[in-house]
Amino acid sequence: MTDPKGFLTTPREEWPRRPVAERVRDWDEVCVPGALLPIIGAQADRCMDCGVPFCHDACPLGNLVPEWNELVSREDWRAAAERLHATNNFPEFTGRLCPAPCEAGCVLAINQPAVTIKNVECAVADRAWEEGFVPPAPPDRLSGRTVAVIGSGPTGLAAAQQLTRAGHTVAVYERDDRPGGLMRYGIPAFKMEKRHLERRLAQMREEGTKFRTSTAVGRDVDAAELRARYDAVVVATGATVWRELPVPGRELAGIHQAMEYLPLANRVCEGDLESSPLSAAGRHVVVVGGGDTGSDCVGTAVRQGAATVTQLDIYGRPGAVRDEDAEPWPTYPKVYRVSASHEEAGALRRAPEVEADAHARVFAASTLRFVGDGEGRVSSLEVVEVDAGRRALAGTERSLRADFVLLALGFSGPECGDGLVAGLGLTLEPRGTLSRGADFGTAAPGVFAAGDAARGQSLIVWAIAEGRAVAAAVDGYLTGGGSRLPAPIGPYDRPMTA
Ligand SMILES: Cc1cc2nc3c(=O)[nH]c(=O)nc-3n(C[C@H](O)[C@H](O)[C@H](O)COP(=O)(O)OP(=O)(O)OC[C@H]3O[C@@H](n4cnc5c(N)ncnc54)[C@H](O)[C@@H]3O)c2cc1C
Ligand code: SF4
Repeated sequence: MTDPKGFLTTPREEWPRRPVAERVRDWDEVCVPGALLPIIGAQADRCMDCGVPFCHDACPLGNLVPEWNELVSREDWRAAAERLHATNNFPEFTGRLCPAPCEAGCVLAINQPAVTIKNVECAVADRAWEEGFVPPAPPDRLSGRTVAVIGSGPTGLAAAQQLTRAGHTVAVYERDDRPGGLMRYGIPAFKMEKRHLERRLAQMREEGTKFRTSTAVGRDVDAAELRARYDAVVVATGATVWRELPVPGRELAGIHQAMEYLPLANRVCEGDLESSPLSAAGRHVVVVGGGDTGSDCVGTAVRQGAATVTQLDIYGRPGAVRDEDAEPWPTYPKVYRVSASHEEAGALRRAPEVEADAHARVFAASTLRFVGDGEGRVSSLEVVEVDAGRRALAGTERSLRADFVLLALGFSGPECGDGLVAGLGLTLEPRGTLSRGADFGTAAPGVFAAGDAARGQSLIVWAIAEGRAVAAAVDGYLTGGGSRLPAPIGPYDRPMTA
């Protein structure tokens, strides 16, 4: 610990966001470029170098947080980058996108604002790239073994990088035209600019990983043939089956799933389209679903020039601070969080009949039906207030103006009808995810399942941990012995609960 009193003398200070009026006019990341580095040393000094660092346990990657905090405080960026990459293949992704369970578990958070761990991670990751501390790390020699990784989201990428660096010959199959999974076409550029993804992909290619894009296994390539061609297969196809809202009026025009909408906006940013065929410009937008995907729809609709944007959440409004009985430290609590997109929607003019809060959010609201304009297009939706058990409260029905509705209700599991599951001989759990054993292996010998496809809808930090862990399992299978690759989690590990 460099400054033993840092946590007493320095208040928490986060990477500042650009003014709302400026950032809604572009798709660049919301934080002020260059404003993190000047503050980060003092923030790292707030770390108490705890004897039992709960930040470490709260992170599925087991990130060595106190070690990099000290190294940042000493301005030893090279060593900090080395310790950061010791547990995480892609800290520049998590440094921007992770909801930071490490900060919820930080010991300082018991009675003070937590250390800004995520910001420290991002600063080290970015500095490492700028200074050239993360050159490609190709293997010294090849094992002669081959692996096909199906899916190029964070799980597939982490698995592929680990296995390539261990000397195996790895090809990543991706049905989209570019690799990246949800980080490419789901998550908007204002949360993470795609240049970070491109830089890592270039590194991986230089290390020897091959990418076969626009190739859906089970459709363009026979899954059984693929299995026969490779010594092992990792299925990391994500949980992409979205949940529906089967209420009257769902068939009306103007109602879209989040993952029909967000990829088109991302394609505009990639330069593939001049404008999105599903644009919220001039519309009264209602986003149904209170999670992160919904928040990404909010920020995207604001940038497209929506007239108003409102986000509905079926859950009640969480408190400003953690409920110590229900969700005590060091668990990740449900509290009222304000994303950059919420700030932006809150700054827009509000539809007069919408009694939303300052961040354009309506809580405890369940959608009863969509109402059309007589010409087949949605014009409003009817909602009712619900209690904690989601029971409708009589007399609370009301109508919200909406001529553009986005459904962001989560995802139920992997797609199974395209020949991949049957072709590889995979089985499913009752909840629809891919079955696997304690070693990440499926019922088919040499076929492993990882990430959201097997775990269910999760987070990037879990996906990277899954990728690293499945790589260790595959390496052990291929070499016939214990692998030296790290396995940060097992397939049944879950976030810390009380
Ligand atoms: C809109 C949105 C925003 C999110 N924001 C965040 C966030 O800010 N922070 C966070 O931590 N998490 C976020 N998440 C969750 C996070 O993105 C996922 O948990 C994570 O991407 C899962 O990684 P994965 O590699 O398992 O799957 P995915 O990222 O879904 O990747 C799976 C890949 O497999 C490919 N594929 C599927 N079937 C085939 C096939 N048959 N052949 C070839 N390829 C195939 C798909 O095209 C896809 O590219 C968000 C999710 C969404 C939808
Ligand atoms: S729990 Fe918080 S204060 Fe303790 S070592 Fe981790 S980051 Fe530092």
